[in-house]
Amino acid sequence: MTATILVIEDEPAIQALLSLNLQRAGYQVHCAASLRQAQASIGHARPDLILLDWMLPDGSGLRLARQLRSQARTRDIPLIMLTARSSEQDIVAGLEAGADDYVGKPFSVRELLARVRSLLRRRMPQLSQDITQAGPLRLDPQILSASSHGQVLPLGPTEFRLLHFLATHAGRVYNRAQLLDQVWGEHTTVEERTVDVHVRRLRKALAPAGLQDTIQTIRGAGYRFVLPARL
Ligand code: CA
Repeated sequence: MTATILVIEDEPAIQALLSLNLQRAGYQVHCAASLRQAQASIGHARPDLILLDWMLPDGSGLRLARQLRSQARTRDIPLIMLTARSSEQDIVAGLEAGADDYVGKPFSVRELLARVRSLLRRRMPQLSQDITQAGPLRLDPQILSASSHGQVLPLGPTEFRLLHFLATHAGRVYNRAQLLDQVWGEHTTVEERTVDVHVRRLRKALAPAGLQDTIQTIRGAGYRFVLPARL
């Protein structure tokens, strides 16, 4: 499960430097050179993290940061501001607009990559390659395998990603559009009822281990993962 990173930067040399190094580090990279391009890219597929330049040709990165934070679909996207402005006042403005972190230009690529990794680990646990244990359920993202008490569950890759996302966000309710964004990576070309189909398959695969009720339907809201108290 590779993280997709959107680089919003209008200076071609810096955009190329970031894109190259992020790709080398194993990320999938999309680039935008303006607010408009960025909005189109995010509208098409929700990135797992955004690197956002402050000064863009058609406006300020702060404006986009505020916009992202004001919409349910983009509110949780980890965001690092990237800029030559580094006065305390600017840093505060960036953080208040919703940035999670702040890197001043010129930046060290190694430091930037470390911050990207750390933010993804903190905010996007479903992208981790570490094994997740949820009650009797053991999820190994490296081989897309789920098991319970040593019994391997027959999950397809999409069912695995769906289960892994919900289990690493246990208790939280996600609607179909959010699940398409988070698990499928886009919400424009896949129909929402696809989610229901995969939830049904997932429950069926969990049933032999008696875990089908861990995926709950919340009427009018979506789905969530909950471990029954008796397990
Ligand atoms: Ca710029």
